[in-house]
Amino acid sequence: MGVQILSRLGVCRRPLVCVVCGCDRIHGHGSYDRWVVWAIGLKSELVEVPRYRCVRCERTMSVLPYGILAYRLLSLMVLRESLYDQEEQRWRDLLRAYRRGWEKWYAKLWRGIGNVFGRLPREAYGGWEQLRELDLAGVNPELVDQTGLSLFGRYRIHTAARTF
Ligand SMILES: [Zn+2]
Repeated sequence: MGVQILSRLGVCRRPLVCVVCGCDRIHGHGSYDRWVVWAIGLKSELVEVPRYRCVRCERTMSVLPYGILAYRLLSLMVLRESLYDQEEQRWRDLLRAYRRGWEKWYAKLWRGIGNVFGRLPREAYGGWEQLRELDLAGVNPELVDQTGLSLFGRYRIHTAARTF
């Protein structure tokens, strides 16, 4: 698996430079499909994730569309609305698993995040309530850039590098 890049835009574009070695010669390298749920009430949908390959170091990079989390079906737009919504039925079990993940991860995030998005409460639910006031799809790449942490875990290989 290559590097995953979080898109800052509604469209996925080619990275300006290789996020591993800095080389600016990057070629298209096909794509893969993955499932995502963009909003509560919508069915899961297959989206095409473009891949690129660095000519120099040969590392592949995929650019995740805005709002999509690595390895997770539900988008940040869904989580923003429903992470703590106990009434939501369709994704109840998955949301419960995501909540557990959030609550487990939050202590590390809290230590690492500093004041990047204002001073956050120590407790996971309060932290979520404060962060969800923001555009979480935009917060996530910003957070990765500034701290190396994402909203739902530390992904060593992720970066939110600028794209064309
Ligand atoms: Zn490279």
